[in-house]
Amino acid sequence: MYFKLFTNCKIVKGNVKSIIIDTQRNFYHDIPNSLYTIIKDLECKSINEVKNEIEDASISIFDSYLEFLVENDFGFITDKANQFLYVEQNKINKPSNNFIIEFSSKISKNIIYQLKDLNIDALHINFYEEIDINELNDILNQIINITSISFVSILSLYNKELNENTWLNLGVNYPILGQIFISSSPIEKTINSESLILIYSKENISFKNCGIVTPKYFSFNTYMYNESFCFNSCLGGKISIDINGNIKNCPSMPQSFGNIKDTSLEEALNHKEFKKYWNLTKDSVEVCKDCEFRYICTDCRAYTEQTHTNDQGLDISKPLKCGYNPYTGEWQEWSTNPLKQKAMKYYRFDK
Ligand code: SF4
Ligand code: SF4
Repeated sequence: MYFKLFTNCKIVKGNVKSIIIDTQRNFYHDIPNSLYTIIKDLECKSINEVKNEIEDASISIFDSYLEFLVENDFGFITDKANQFLYVEQNKINKPSNNFIIEFSSKISKNIIYQLKDLNIDALHINFYEEIDINELNDILNQIINITSISFVSILSLYNKELNENTWLNLGVNYPILGQIFISSSPIEKTINSESLILIYSKENISFKNCGIVTPKYFSFNTYMYNESFCFNSCLGGKISIDINGNIKNCPSMPQSFGNIKDTSLEEALNHKEFKKYWNLTKDSVEVCKDCEFRYICTDCRAYTEQTHTNDQGLDISKPLKCGYNPYTGEWQEWSTNPLKQKAMKYYRFDK
């Protein structure tokens, strides 16, 4: 008899423990590293072959592991091993293209025309000033008419003139609009309507608050998982325009590749350094390379612990805003960690 892990379930080994990720049911479960090793052995050996290789005292643990995997629908037992061939990790050739724009009076909405030829899949728009609903309608119409973008999310400053129904109607009128986040709101509220997710938050959001790593933000879908294997889980395929019109990897990254006043997005994309972080996976980032969460947590290259660079000069330090220690398996508040204070001072997070 053989044990086969369902193809939607992935196992990732960390320093002190492993996880099993169910990319269909969208959750992960901690497992001991000894179970990780057994699952790997079972990929090519029968249950009896693996049992014969372990000590008698460990047989009952082996049986309980197998029971756990089957009872929790992570896999199944079969006598037809040949019908279920081992599936290699999917390799993807290109990250999905996503675009961030911090709209301000300095940025003309004609920039949308440039998105036409860039094959952008997802667009995130930040409005830090009070939004004019007619202008927003214009922008959304342009996106639909000119580009092939399939998902739009918006972050907007709270405006008491725009009520809940106005926002929800936008979702009905523009099906590509998937999420609206209202910052500096007097209330905290999340509405999951049929057309979009509307989140009211008291927080004053800016890109300085971006890059927080917490299990709340882990992503379990198969595409994200496969993409994290091959590309940077934040900057892969990302292009941004910051509030001053600078073209960057993300609005918080220090390097600018020109300003939209005199540089086209295509010219910036063709700059030899623009894609330098796109292929940097967590397997090459210090600390993260030993962490079991490395294919489900989003990376951050804008705010790092600033401890390591590789031989191409790329920052390969752990994201600053992560409080997880894969060498102890414990989460702690990142901002009070004494080892992070120097980097926090550099980014002026101590102010
Ligand atoms: S690099 Fe960091 S700050 Fe920039 S978008 Fe990614 S997570 Fe946010
Ligand atoms: S240590 Fe790295 S991989 Fe692990 S949770 Fe933190 S940022 Fe993610």
